[in-house]
Amino acid sequence: MIDDTSYKDLPFEEKIQMMDAMTEKQLQDSLEQVKFMCKDYCGKCPSYQGTGETNLAFCSIGKSSIIKEKKGCLCKQCPISKTMSLRWEFYCTDGNAIDLAIAEKK
Ligand code: SF4
Ligand code: SF4
Repeated sequence: MIDDTSYKDLPFEEKIQMMDAMTEKQLQDSLEQVKFMCKDYCGKCPSYQGTGETNLAFCSIGKSSIIKEKKGCLCKQCPISKTMSLRWEFYCTDGNAIDLAIAEKK
């Protein structure tokens, strides 16, 4: 069993692998939690505000079809970045964390 102290230091790739064991319902609930948190970050970010975008959690769902201009990103301050060891930003224009992790390996 992994304790909380060692979990927080794991890289994103290992944390996301652990989510493979989650049920569809658990994944949905987790996405809802990410969105809840995200509205105070993406929702208040200069790249998002005024665009008409209503989606959230781009680190999970991937690129926005609406946001095209990078005017600043608050992802580094978002607790989800820490919880999931996310090391990127601008998910709304660049893609979700899984895609960015894969792109790094190419
Ligand atoms: S991913 Fe970053 S740049 Fe895009 S809306 Fe969220 S905080 Fe803003
Ligand atoms: S890391 Fe960025 S995209 Fe993901 S929930 Fe936080 S603010 Fe939203």
